[in-house]
Amino acid sequence: MVRGISLLSGGLDSMLAICLLREQGIEMEGVVFKSPFFGTASAEKAAQQLGVKLHILDFSQDILSLVRNPPHGFGGAMNPCIDCHAAMIRRAGEFMREGGYDFVSTGEVLNQRPMSQNRKSLDTVAKSSGLEGFLLRPLSAQLLDPTVPEEDGRIDRSRLGAISGRNRQPQMELVRRYGLKEYPSPAGGCLLTEKGFCRKLRDLFDHTEGIPPVADVELLRFSRQFRLPGGGRIIVGRNRMDNLTLKGLQKEGRLILHTVNIPGPTAAVLGEISQADLLLAASIISDYGDKGALTDIIVRVIPPQGESYEVTVNPLARETYQPWML
Ligand code: SF4
Repeated sequence: MVRGISLLSGGLDSMLAICLLREQGIEMEGVVFKSPFFGTASAEKAAQQLGVKLHILDFSQDILSLVRNPPHGFGGAMNPCIDCHAAMIRRAGEFMREGGYDFVSTGEVLNQRPMSQNRKSLDTVAKSSGLEGFLLRPLSAQLLDPTVPEEDGRIDRSRLGAISGRNRQPQMELVRRYGLKEYPSPAGGCLLTEKGFCRKLRDLFDHTEGIPPVADVELLRFSRQFRLPGGGRIIVGRNRMDNLTLKGLQKEGRLILHTVNIPGPTAAVLGEISQADLLLAASIISDYGDKGALTDIIVRVIPPQGESYEVTVNPLARETYQPWML
């Protein structure tokens, strides 16, 4: 039995690659990567529809190292796409060897993206990932050099695709042929391509030596964050759900602040904070609170260990702390 492992992003092309190979009796399984910047929901949905086993690999350390040091640089934001793609293929190759699969396949289509999917880039990725001869692109296979399992006849090359370019018509024909009812929009959803998110990420990298902890990166999803003048960093809840989640972070070793004598947001401190910044943080959440004409606001400080205590502060003027927002 020939067995392959396919990168399954959940986009249509990655699904069709699997369908095309299964049509000739090849046993296919999917692999997808998770990290604080992208999830696996689309791939899980696609795997369910196709009825293939899906392996989820944690890619967090790989992608964080690349964000710290991208050999081929970034795309439009902090997305090290060239290196990320090559690293994913490399990891899939390791998975192939460990699991005794015969090849790795992807849904890439020749010339669909002028820069990253031209003939030269596809060959470079195969070579640099150490998978030369074992990296199959079923949708365009007939236009590319044959892989080892095609050469030795385990895969029938004549039944693979010869798709090239951006025209989606051939894919639509395959959708009808395989009766695919539902397919999510192509991968997308990578936070590293979002400039607003990357402002916070850049700040975190600038204030961390080496690779930031995954838990700190995951907290960047909260939208209201500040870097205070003394270097302290806080997250301030925007709604009840945020506040509840932030309160729960005390158990994970974070210092928490919340207003006592008025309804107001909860804040969590990321990393170390000076006493001066702590009081500024208390003044910021006081300003966001429902304070009316009250000027003396009591804020409870809950350290990760030890007794909690209260401080009394005045709300800070918004124009003072607005520039500290990330
Ligand atoms: S968009 Fe994100 S997940 Fe996709 S290749 Fe680029 S960095 Fe990697």
